[in-house]
Amino acid sequence: MNCDDARRLMHGHLDGELDLATDLEVQRHLEECPRCTSEYTAMRAVRTRLKDEAFRFEAPAALKEKIRRAIPVAASPASRAVAYPSRRGSSMPRAIRIVVPMAIGAMLALIIAPRALRPSLDQRLAGEVVASHVRSLMAAHLMDVASTDQHTVKPWFNGKLDFSPPVTDFAKDGFPLVGGRLDYIDGRPVAALVYQHGKHVINVFMWPSAGDATNAERIETEHGYNVEQLIVAGMNCWVVSDLNQLELDKFAELIRAKG
Ligand SMILES: [Zn+2]
Repeated sequence: MNCDDARRLMHGHLDGELDLATDLEVQRHLEECPRCTSEYTAMRAVRTRLKDEAFRFEAPAALKEKIRRAIPVAASPASRAVAYPSRRGSSMPRAIRIVVPMAIGAMLALIIAPRALRPSLDQRLAGEVVASHVRSLMAAHLMDVASTDQHTVKPWFNGKLDFSPPVTDFAKDGFPLVGGRLDYIDGRPVAALVYQHGKHVINVFMWPSAGDATNAERIETEHGYNVEQLIVAGMNCWVVSDLNQLELDKFAELIRAKG
C-alpha cells in the first residue's frame, strides 16, 4: 500500500468503516510511514476536538422560539394533525354564514317574485276601469240614465245597487254631470257616473270601499287614459278619462271636497 492509497483510506480507518484486510493494510502503512502517521494523527485530533463538549453551542431560548415561530405550522408533520381539525372547525361557521343567507334569499325570491310579477289589485282594477271606460264610449252605452240633474240620476240607482252612490253635478266648475249607468267592476255591479269637460268624457266608477275610509289617492296612466283612484265617504272612486292629468286631478279634487 502506497501513501496515496493510505491517505484515501485514512478516514475509513478512523471511522472503522474498512473491511478487516484493508484496515490491517492501512494500519501497517501508518506504522511504517511517519508522514502518513503525522497526517492521520492531525485528522484524529480534529475529530476529537469536534466531539469535545466545549465546541458544542447551545442556542438561547429566545433564538429557539424565534426559529420555531418562523417555521410555518403546516410545514411541520407533527402539527398538521392539529391544524386540520381546527381549520375544519372554523370553516363550518363560515360556510353557514355564507350558505344560510343565500338559502333565505332564494326562499324569499320564490315567495316575493310571483307577487311582484303578478299585477297588484290596484293595477288590475285600473285596467278594468279603463276597459269599461273605453267600452262605454264604443258601444254607445255611455248612459242608462241621461240627465244633468243629480236629483234624477241618484234615485235612478235605487233598487239597482245595494248602495247609494253620492251624485253631485259640478257644472259650475266646468264638469257637468250628463248621466249614469250600471257597470261591472271587480266582480260586482258598480255605479258609473258620467261627466263631461269640453268634448272629453269622464267616467267615475263607485262602489263601497272594503278598506278604511281614509283618502287614498293615486294617479296613473293606463293605455293613454289617465286614471285616478280615491276613497271618498267610504266609496271607492275610480276616475277615468282621456282628459289631461292636471284637469282630471282638478275634477278629482272636486269629488274629494264633496266627500
Ligand atoms: Zn505513507
